Amino acid sequence: MLKFEDLDLDRLIEQVLAGVELDRESARAILNCPDERLGDLLAATLKVREAVFGRKVKLCMLRNARSGICPEDCGYCSQSRVSKADIPVYKLQSIGQLVEGAERAAHTGAGRYCMVTSGRGPDARDIEHLGEACDRIRGQFPQLEICLSLGLMDRDQAETLKGAGAGWINHNLNTSRRFYPQICSTHTWDDRVQTIENVRAAGLSTCSGGIVGMGESDDDLLDLAYAARRLRIDSVPVNFLNSIRGTPLQDRRALTPPKCLKAVCLFRLLNPTSEVRAAGGRELNLGALQGYALYAVNSIFVDGYLTTPGLAAAGAREMIERMGFEVEERD
Ligand code: SF4
Repeated sequence: MLKFEDLDLDRLIEQVLAGVELDRESARAILNCPDERLGDLLAATLKVREAVFGRKVKLCMLRNARSGICPEDCGYCSQSRVSKADIPVYKLQSIGQLVEGAERAAHTGAGRYCMVTSGRGPDARDIEHLGEACDRIRGQFPQLEICLSLGLMDRDQAETLKGAGAGWINHNLNTSRRFYPQICSTHTWDDRVQTIENVRAAGLSTCSGGIVGMGESDDDLLDLAYAARRLRIDSVPVNFLNSIRGTPLQDRRALTPPKCLKAVCLFRLLNPTSEVRAAGGRELNLGALQGYALYAVNSIFVDGYLTTPGLAAAGAREMIERMGFEVEERD
């Protein structure tokens, strides 16, 4: 088995930047980088990140537009029908509330605002309502990128949302095709890929990543990172499992900060020109080392996640500056 010590990092960076796909054994060696060589891995990954994105960091803000009561059974999710987590439960928020969320995002300097709804997928009324919200937000905050995460979606729905002003659709692959049945039985990995293809066919940008730490093997994580590359995903959020009490995965705690950093390096080196974003569970799993994720990612979430808190925008800005990076400001 190829070891991290066997890699020629300068050559590897050159190849990655030339568009050559990292071979699987090198990718595996990156994921298994010894902790004492993590500094070398981060420095190499930073060169790729800097060559494409400089030192800029895009801030993203989420809005949980409908919370809970989901008929699906994703094991990591506090909003699923099998979750007993104590979370707020509410129906689709009003257009006024969604626009107010966009206003908050714009005022904190977020580049992207993502409205998320629980559920298997949107119905016609959801599409109409969210389309109207997109239209209003685009009119009032034209500099803000609008993303929606609504579950499984067909091409017509995606086209309607694009026409209303959405630029991005998030739909995470979450893990490998092989491991997917271990975390969800109500839909398949292939269903998720189909949504990504529908979104792209509608002319929208794709946002799709996964969750590290759900009990997957290194091969599963490698499969996911390669899937993001081969599906040409534009934006790849890397979440780190926050094992929420009351969810089926509540006792899974497999991550360490170095493991999380190796994972984001892997995603960056396999997806050099895509946005790679440190997402949910970043604060919990990386702790004081979360700033080092910026060596690989060019985007982070601020002000929390769907049902869990996170670093506020002011704290995130401070961290970004302290680490020698700069927030990508909107005009
Ligand atoms: S479909 Fe979405 S909201 Fe529903 S259980 Fe799965 S992740 Fe949670």
